[in-house]
Amino acid sequence: MLKHPCPQTTEIGILYPIDKCSKTFLEHLDNTSRKWLYTHNEVHNDIMNYIKNSPNCDEANQIANEILNEVKRGGKFNVKNEILLDSTFLANQKVNCVFNKLISQNNSFFKNIIINSFASSKTAILKYDIANIPQPSGGIYNAITKPIYNNGGKSFYKITLDASFVINASAIEIAFAIIHESIHAELIERCIELNLIEYITNSGNVKFFSTPVTYTNNTAIFQQLIMYYQSYNGAIHPEWNHDLFNLFNYRDKLQTDLLNIHPYINDSTNDFLTSVINDPNIQGGTYTLQDIMYYTSWLGLEGTLEYNSIFNDPTNPNESIRKSYTETVINTKYNHNCN
Ligand SMILES: [Zn+2]
Repeated sequence: MLKHPCPQTTEIGILYPIDKCSKTFLEHLDNTSRKWLYTHNEVHNDIMNYIKNSPNCDEANQIANEILNEVKRGGKFNVKNEILLDSTFLANQKVNCVFNKLISQNNSFFKNIIINSFASSKTAILKYDIANIPQPSGGIYNAITKPIYNNGGKSFYKITLDASFVINASAIEIAFAIIHESIHAELIERCIELNLIEYITNSGNVKFFSTPVTYTNNTAIFQQLIMYYQSYNGAIHPEWNHDLFNLFNYRDKLQTDLLNIHPYINDSTNDFLTSVINDPNIQGGTYTLQDIMYYTSWLGLEGTLEYNSIFNDPTNPNESIRKSYTETVINTKYNHNCN
């Protein structure tokens, strides 16, 4: 015998809101989403906990909606690390494989960013996806990090790998792009935690507080760096975020991570370094693996003060030749698959 289906309102009760804010979230869901959550208990619990741990209810609701939509589309939310892997990211075997290898390395800098900076903060969330990035005139964006933050709320970082880049990229280029962009997110998150940033506009422009609090020790140093870049040439130096890569030795750490991941993504039957060594058109001298990862780690840092002092030094033109050669071979001679 047919029974009357439960009225929708009781389903909110079944979905167990755990505080006032999660109750608001559940009440504003459409029926489809509510039913979907009802049958996906783990996602439901993760989202409820996520909202509960957020300081700003409205923003948490907004992000929770984003998480729910992504997961419904086939994405994955890792509540412990506060990472949201978009379905476009998970569907790409090569990218997903490189990401999993990066995150399963012990003591890697990348893992440290994810676990210590984001997972422990409980105020930020990182989302990775693959999409077509609108390309600027006179440049190429292989990947971008879009921070979303407004005065005291929860911050959200969208890391997007460009779809065309991904198709043509080697495994090491993908590893590089993922780490480089995650460092951007981490640097901006640090500035937010230090109360240096008031808000970030939709177009990604960062607004610093004009009279920041004075900090001591590490935070004071960090503040001075920000102030320095803020006032560089009388305006915010366009490369301030990239300059911070160098000042905190992030570039060195990126290089180490690339060296460590290499054995796991190199094709040993067509070894990368051997092809470089045997390259009849090799330029700039001989290379070790360390050299290659060193030059790779400088990619994207063009225009920073430290970059200019090394690569635009007229007395040592070979450095820029070696960097250009590296940029070419990590694509043409490196493994394009990941298993
Ligand atoms: Zn960058």
